[in-house]
Amino acid sequence: MPVQALTALLCGVLGLAIGSFLNVVVWRVPRGESVVSPRSACPRCRHEIRARDNVPVLSWLVLRGRCRDCGESISSRYPAVEAGTAALFATVGWSAGPSWVLPAYLYLTAIGVALALIDLDSQRLPDKLVLPSYPMALVLLALASWNPGGASDWGALVRAVTGGAVMFAVYLLIVLLYPRGMGQGDVKLAGVLGMYLAWAGWGNLVVGWFAAFLLGGIVGISLVAGRRAGRRTAIPFGPWMLLGAATGLLVGAQISGWYVDLVI
Ligand SMILES: [Zn+2]
Repeated sequence: MPVQALTALLCGVLGLAIGSFLNVVVWRVPRGESVVSPRSACPRCRHEIRARDNVPVLSWLVLRGRCRDCGESISSRYPAVEAGTAALFATVGWSAGPSWVLPAYLYLTAIGVALALIDLDSQRLPDKLVLPSYPMALVLLALASWNPGGASDWGALVRAVTGGAVMFAVYLLIVLLYPRGMGQGDVKLAGVLGMYLAWAGWGNLVVGWFAAFLLGGIVGISLVAGRRAGRRTAIPFGPWMLLGAATGLLVGAQISGWYVDLVI
């Protein structure tokens, strides 16, 4: 099997397990509960979930979406998050390949899934997830810049720190000027995403920043136009920042390249 496909496959399997853990994170972190203990239990009959009923996706299918003990239905969101995380991890594994930047991108993917879901649920981006992402991103991007066994690129790490500070400052300015549009959680997340985008390149940062506003703006306008949201309805911006960052990381270099060619 080609090494790229093998990396994608292994990342996909890892994504199933991580997705299962993210379900716990998304439920418990906003409620201030520990993600380690107690073990998961049925919310209705309180029976602990058996290990064999905790296999990502498969258990839900085998149980036909019901608790083994009391028959309470289990939301299809759980296997969907597991399968979705696996698909995203496989995609990241395919595009990054077996490289030192892979851990950094997988971490961003995991935290991104959790934050997007929590923000959609409750319009919040918990500090408990966002703040530890600063040291995590710094360490993982330092590893990627070091690139043991290959050529190091410490300039990329300097760019990451600068880009994180710039994105943080830009979002802070937006929140100060227009407090209803965004929250403090968005400002804190912007710093983390800025680090990743700038690590990849300044073109990636610009595209990632622009894509967030484009995507968020289009959805916001269509929700208001379709009367599904009023002008004052809080529309979570975190998911668009994350999607924008993904766009910036995946195709930011190409898009900014085309743009520069077009202008010059
Ligand atoms: Zn039950």
